Amino acid sequence: MDQLRDEYGQASNIKSKRTRKNVQSALDVLMGKVKHFDSPPENGMIAMAGMVSTRGDKSDMKSLIIEPPEKINSYRYHCDSNFLIEPLKDLVEEKKKFGLIVLDRREATVGILKGNNIDPKRHLTSGVPGKTKAGGQSQARFERLRDQAAHEFYKRIAEAANSVFTAEDELVGVLIGGPSPTKEEFLSKDLLHHELEIIDKFDVSYTDEYGLRELVNTASTTLEELRSMEERNTSKEFLNKLVQEEGLVSYGEEQVRKALNIGAVDKLLLSEKLRKLRVSIECKECDYSKEITVEETEFAEVEEEYNQCPKCEGGTEIEAQDLVDDLSEKAEQMGTEVILVGTDFEEGEQIYDAFGGIAAILRFEVGKL
Ligand SMILES: [Zn+2]
Repeated sequence: MDQLRDEYGQASNIKSKRTRKNVQSALDVLMGKVKHFDSPPENGMIAMAGMVSTRGDKSDMKSLIIEPPEKINSYRYHCDSNFLIEPLKDLVEEKKKFGLIVLDRREATVGILKGNNIDPKRHLTSGVPGKTKAGGQSQARFERLRDQAAHEFYKRIAEAANSVFTAEDELVGVLIGGPSPTKEEFLSKDLLHHELEIIDKFDVSYTDEYGLRELVNTASTTLEELRSMEERNTSKEFLNKLVQEEGLVSYGEEQVRKALNIGAVDKLLLSEKLRKLRVSIECKECDYSKEITVEETEFAEVEEEYNQCPKCEGGTEIEAQDLVDDLSEKAEQMGTEVILVGTDFEEGEQIYDAFGGIAAILRFEVGKL
């Protein structure tokens, strides 16, 4: 709130009178909306306001408060000619979960990475003595005791990790961080549950909660590669099936939506290049309702067209959602995996150009719906 007031003051320095007026009234609207929250919603919120041009040279103040599906960890203020929705998209799209362990012989932290969110779950410390030899003991005996204590500690870490990780469904795999050779030593003992896939190990210097963050940063290239590998493989799978088992694929919004609704879709491929909105129109007076998909640029027109109910001329409520988000939500309800497909590789480009950016690999044949 203070930030908004501050920005309001700074906006008085904007030279163009029209822009200044627009920015200030947008901030006015935001302050008006934010004021109604006694405390922020559980997952944080995203507030947007701005002038949106409607038909001709007219423009209209639009504002929107979104409570995101996952916790937002960042705070951003953004003033631009477009609404900033990328951070929200990241949350919706990257729901993959990874297990995290950072450890050395004295301390370990176990956590879960979901989207961009790191959730520390367990913190453990050991009583493993340091390298300096205690008085009166032989060096060999001292080393043996240290190794034994370390082994006990590794067992405790593995027990904690196993119970945290196996409680999560759809964990992609586990990332392990720590100094060398501790993490190698831990891995060599093969203490983790056999169903957990170890993705890779990374050199990390901290072993507390901060270490989890360090691990994710260090592993980001690997995570990126995993994601893009999945994108490519699934796109290829779709194109192969199209040729070999045509009944097990579906494409185009209408067909895919129908297949989704009956739970027939195993994997849903959505192009990152999709710029469409799913608009729902509901009459406040009668039972009229309608859902349509439009280009982002057509939204103002649709709003104008459905300003009045076509059936009873009563007032309407019009809501718009990004098409990717809309389909992703439907997919999630049906246990369908969603894969976002870029256009920086050939198959991804084909998914967009030839199939309208919406394609599905089916669980079973559904025929023409
Ligand atoms: Zn009506």
